[in-house]
Amino acid sequence: MALAEITARIRAAEAAAGRAVGSVQLIAVSKVQPLERVVAVLDAGHRLFGENYVQEAASKWPDLRARFGPVQVHMIGPLQTNKAKLALDLFDAIHTLDRPSLAQKLAALAQARGSCPDLFVQVNTGEEPQKAGVLPADLAGFLKDCRALDLSPKGLMCIPPEGEDSTPHFAMLAGMAADHGLTGLSMGMSGDFEAAIAHGATHVRVGSAIFGARAYPA
Ligand SMILES: *Cc1c(COP(=O)(O)O)cnc(C)c1O
Repeated sequence: MALAEITARIRAAEAAAGRAVGSVQLIAVSKVQPLERVVAVLDAGHRLFGENYVQEAASKWPDLRARFGPVQVHMIGPLQTNKAKLALDLFDAIHTLDRPSLAQKLAALAQARGSCPDLFVQVNTGEEPQKAGVLPADLAGFLKDCRALDLSPKGLMCIPPEGEDSTPHFAMLAGMAADHGLTGLSMGMSGDFEAAIAHGATHVRVGSAIFGARAYPA
C-alpha cells in the first residue's frame, strides 16, 4: 500500500541527507478520509496520525484507540480557544500554537491537569495575510511569552504558500528553530516531504499520498 512506499521514501531521504534512520516521524494526516482507509493504515501497523478538526477527531479517535490500543494523534489544524480543553483530552501534540490568547488558554489548562501535549509554534513564513501563524519578526517575543507562561514549545511548524517553492520556507524555519534552540521541525506534506527532510524536518505531515485524494463533503 501507499504507506509502505511513503515510509521507504522517508528512509531514503533520511539517508540522502546523512540523517539517522528513524529521525523523521511520519504523521499520517487522516482528516476527512473515509474510516475504512484510516483502519487500513492502522491495520498496517501505523500509530501516528494528524487531524485538522477537533470535532472530527473527537468522533473518530476514542473509538479507534479503544479498538487498536495506543495511537498518537497530533492536531495540525487551526485551534479555536474554546476547543482547547477538548483538544487536550484528544491530542498528544499541537502543531498550531499561533497566538497569545491560545498560549494563555493552553497554559491555564496544562497547569490544571499537570500535563501538556508537545507544542509546536506555527510560523507564517510566507507572511500571508489569510494564513495563521506567528510572523517571523514576532517569533522571539512570542516564544518569550510562552516561556513566561511555563510553556516550552518543542519546535516550529510551517505551511509554505501554495504554488511556491517550499524550499526557502523550510530553510527559514530550520534557521529560526536553530536560533531558538528548538529541536522539532514540523514541515513537509505529500508534495514536498523529501525536500523538508533534506532541510531537517523531524515530523512530516502526509495525507493524500498515503490515503488518496480527500473528498470534502459538498
Ligand atoms: C491537510 C494537511 C496536510 C496534508 O496534506 P497532503 O497534501 O494531503 O499531504 C499537512 N499539513 C496540514 C497542516 C494540513 O492541513
